[in-house]
Amino acid sequence: MKVEQVLDNLKRRFPNESEYHQAVEEVLHSIEDVYNAHPEFEKQNIIERICIPERIFSFRITWVDDKGNVNTNMAYRIQHNNAIGPYKGGMRFHSSVSPSILKFLAFEQTFKNALTTLPMGGAKGGSDFNPKGKSNAEVMRFCQAFMLELWHHIGPETDVPAGDIGVGGREIGFLYGMYKKLARENTGTFTGKGLEFGGSLIRPEATGYGNIYFLMNMLNRKGITDLKGQVVAISGSGNVATYTAEKVLELGGKVITLSDSNGYIYDEAGIDSEKLAYVFELKNVYRGRLKEYADKYNCKYVEGGRPWAEACTIALPSATQNELNGDDAEILIKNGCMAVSEGANMPSTPEAIEVFLKNKILYGPGKAANAGGVSVSGLEMSQNSMKISWSKEEVDAKLKGIMASIHQSCVQYGTEPDGFVNYVNGANIAGFMKVAKAMMAQGVL
Ligand code: NDP
Repeated sequence: MKVEQVLDNLKRRFPNESEYHQAVEEVLHSIEDVYNAHPEFEKQNIIERICIPERIFSFRITWVDDKGNVNTNMAYRIQHNNAIGPYKGGMRFHSSVSPSILKFLAFEQTFKNALTTLPMGGAKGGSDFNPKGKSNAEVMRFCQAFMLELWHHIGPETDVPAGDIGVGGREIGFLYGMYKKLARENTGTFTGKGLEFGGSLIRPEATGYGNIYFLMNMLNRKGITDLKGQVVAISGSGNVATYTAEKVLELGGKVITLSDSNGYIYDEAGIDSEKLAYVFELKNVYRGRLKEYADKYNCKYVEGGRPWAEACTIALPSATQNELNGDDAEILIKNGCMAVSEGANMPSTPEAIEVFLKNKILYGPGKAANAGGVSVSGLEMSQNSMKISWSKEEVDAKLKGIMASIHQSCVQYGTEPDGFVNYVNGANIAGFMKVAKAMMAQGVL
């Protein structure tokens, strides 16, 4: 396999899909040597089969808004690979959603899910519907229209969706409710459900908590056992960012930033638990903007900016893809940042990753560091099929164990001769090997 040849071929066949090309390129560079050491992979053309989604559904959704206008949106479900288990991955509702973005997410999800130790294939879905500013009734009608089309293609052993940007507990409730009505079964074909109807304790917290558990595994190797004295910059203020901040505070760190798509806040005094409780309320109850935090607590607010120029020792990008570029990475390093762990999917550009690796700081790529969310989704599926619920402590302990195991896989596959752990290579190679071996065992499909 020659990386450039495979990439050129994919770019020719699937033009104008830059995010998808970016995600594939990173993985191909990591696995090139390992792949070429296994001629049996090449013989079965594993590389193309692992890069190209097995199936893509795309459909138009029609829904009626509160004024009686009829609206249309595009929606998709990418079933990328089911070699190791049912398709599994979130749904994103955001105006930027495109086949390229969902293909990159489904591709990454396949390797991430392989790392979790649980039997889950990779998928992703969503729509260019923007829930911001919509009433609850509008969101419900949209979700119901979405499910009317998708329900045929998902199921507890087939494909189990979850949340992502713009899809939280409210949306999952509406989507799952309609699915259940149409499918006439009650086996939990969605994760991130409410606790009253099959959801798992710790699922909302899992991605953020999991990222901090992964970070602590990286820091432990340097002899650091808590976050006391650490200054932490976080981007985003949604599900992942807020629970990340909660865990940082619990471990003694100081959180200085959060962001949304309008700008970021820099709170020099630190975003403590009381202020964080306000952010939870602002985001989940009032669906407001972070500017209101700046007004309330009289702190710095930077319109349209990203928080990476604020001096920190740890950076946790937790908003969206390509939100941290090479220049941002240089500034972080210059200001003394020693660890970056990704809550979001592909938040760092290839140039930023190069800077982190060149400077040999601790860098946990999203594929490994944010796998806690889907891991607890996997645990939700287990609880649903066993018809039991585990306690908060039980789920949290399993989450910690899974993050430690993911970290160990990265160390196993990513340690370089000088002892530096390249977590990008580690995660990509470990995930790839598991999926590739499963595909080989199951024949040409
Ligand atoms: P939410 O919708 O809860 O929050 C997203 C946050 O990021 C919001 O603060 C949002 O601001 C901001 N944001 C979204 N898009 C942009 C953009 N284009 N530019 C700037 N800011 C933006 O989503 P999640 O917290 O669930 O997801 C965040 C990231 O984590 C995503 O990359 C997602 O794929 C990843 N992830 C999520 C998991 C989960 O369990 N939820 C699991 C693994 C990864 P605003 O409110 O203004 O839109």
